[in-house]
Amino acid sequence: MGELVKKKVRTIKVDIDKCNGCRTCEMACAAFHASPRYSSLNPYRSRIRMIINEQNDEWVAVRATDYSKAECDGRRTYTIKGREFSECSFCGTICPARDLFKEPDSGLPLKCDMCESDPPLEVPMCVQACQHEALTYEEKEVWVEAEEQVKPAEMELSLKSLIDKYGLEKLANTVARMAQKG
Ligand code: SF4
Ligand code: SF4
Repeated sequence: MGELVKKKVRTIKVDIDKCNGCRTCEMACAAFHASPRYSSLNPYRSRIRMIINEQNDEWVAVRATDYSKAECDGRRTYTIKGREFSECSFCGTICPARDLFKEPDSGLPLKCDMCESDPPLEVPMCVQACQHEALTYEEKEVWVEAEEQVKPAEMELSLKSLIDKYGLEKLANTVARMAQKG
């Protein structure tokens, strides 16, 4: 086991009983991530989306997590307090099974970055925007192995999606060209 270091873990808890599906969180996230900031309100650019199935009384706020090239083949169904939630309800993976969390123009995955910004926000935008206390922000410190802190997860996510979109060869050629230019 390697050296242990403290790592800050940030969480957003979702209370689905308090959520009324107003979608204000989507708007807040989309506006915060617009370029320039707050210049547009396209919910398709939001990293948090409401999974809505009115027939099934299903209203769940889900944040985008990781990119996956393939859709999973071992799905689940949840029954909570008599309500049935379909297989993808709680999943934040960006995958081919649905059109969630894909940037509408480029198709690139949109992962929740907890509103990384400089200066940092005290509370992420979606949590600030929710007037129904359905979203709660929490921070805690955990001990992890030192190398875990330097895992280039964000870089991997972007590279995987670019490889899927353009192919490894094209991407490698582009990187080689850029390296030559210095
Ligand atoms: S934490 Fe920030 S980036 Fe993540 S879903 Fe909420 S508003 Fe979007
Ligand atoms: S802002 Fe709050 S109540 Fe509205 S959809 Fe988002 S989580 Fe639900």
